[in-house]
Amino acid sequence: MREVGFVLTLAFFVGASILMAVQTGFCKDIVGVIVVDMQGDFTTLKNGALAVNGTDKAFVERVQKATEALKQKGCTIFATQDWHPKDHISFFTNHEGKKPFEAIQIEGRTQVLWPPHCVQETDNAALLLDKSLFAAVVKKGQDKKYDSYSGFQDDGGKQTEMAKILKESGIKELIVYGIATDYCVKATAIDAAKEGFKVTVIENLCRGVAPETSAKAIQEMKDKGITVKQEL
Ligand SMILES: [Zn+2]
Repeated sequence: MREVGFVLTLAFFVGASILMAVQTGFCKDIVGVIVVDMQGDFTTLKNGALAVNGTDKAFVERVQKATEALKQKGCTIFATQDWHPKDHISFFTNHEGKKPFEAIQIEGRTQVLWPPHCVQETDNAALLLDKSLFAAVVKKGQDKKYDSYSGFQDDGGKQTEMAKILKESGIKELIVYGIATDYCVKATAIDAAKEGFKVTVIENLCRGVAPETSAKAIQEMKDKGITVKQEL
């Protein structure tokens, strides 16, 4: 009887290992996912201050489901979170006489002025996806003097902890998607490629501020060796 039990136990463990290998095979422990700025202020779902077209309930649910599926396949999931102080340089309200979406020059850099958004600790700065999905959430744009579209560094060149976390996690390839295609997704994907990661952007899990700049962003990413896929 004891031998039968042992054989059954062994068979169970072999079976479970094969099943796990099949499930995690897709990500091979080296594929990470960066979900960019899925926050209330960027969505129509939450009537956000800087709501991007097409970011309704269906879109947010699609991103949530896709991220769950990637996690089940063994990918390690990361997120970026725009996280500004009230006096942030990117808010038009902090520049006298300026309007939202106007571009100004600051110390030789072009700064687009946005409606105040993702102010630290406000409800609409919170991530919309289930937090338990993420191995780490990297906050960006915390320095009032610099904007930070990229999850890797701000406009002043100061690195976030993103590259370090990814490298320590053994990640070699990245799948990137979220909001917005023409700003934070583009900047994050391009910096990821610069850091040596093999990057794929999933277009239908992204939404852009404007169609022209989004089309330009897709081309720019392709030109930099990033793979752009329509679907996951
Ligand atoms: Zn911002």
